[in-house]
Amino acid sequence: MSTTQTITTSTTTETTPQELVTTIRCCSGCSSQQSDEQKHLHEKLMKRAIDLSKESCNDHGNHPFGALLIDNDTNEIILEAHNTVHTENDRTRHAELNLSSMASKKYPRDYLTNCTMYTSTEPCIMCAGAIFWVGIGKVVYACPASRLREIVRRKQDGNNLKNSGSLTIACREIFEERSEGLNIPLIGPIMEEEAAAVHESYW
Ligand SMILES: [Zn+2]
Repeated sequence: MSTTQTITTSTTTETTPQELVTTIRCCSGCSSQQSDEQKHLHEKLMKRAIDLSKESCNDHGNHPFGALLIDNDTNEIILEAHNTVHTENDRTRHAELNLSSMASKKYPRDYLTNCTMYTSTEPCIMCAGAIFWVGIGKVVYACPASRLREIVRRKQDGNNLKNSGSLTIACREIFEERSEGLNIPLIGPIMEEEAAAVHESYW
């Protein structure tokens, strides 16, 4: 867990991860090129999302997924969330769903359209639906859903998928093809190998 940020996903009473506010800034050695700055910002924020995925499993015993939300104008992290499937005994509590619920309770839809979610793994369609209804404007992901399925299938020899199933419809279909009134850009994969390594060591 970060020494400067205090996110506490209680294993007992909290229903959602604690929100926090942190400013992510590029390092002093950053290029002045806008594209390089954007790339560096993506990686900085995604590293934090991947760290959240590690915390979910290592610190709280949940599945290894993490997500955060930034304000596009300030690049400030305004919310963070873990997966809480086990601690809340609720199989729908994916990190992106937790984050969407927190965002919906705290901010108006108009504000959220100018926010970006960074998530350690490409969202499932349940979470994609929540992201759509809440109004979050953009999504950046690290590990593709297809890569996650491949890892789980290989590591568990298909047993887990046989028991729990897997959604194979891509969130891009919700964001870009089957939604009306809000087209949600999907960016990724970014830092795929780092995010996939977390799944490799978990499943
Ligand atoms: Zn999900």
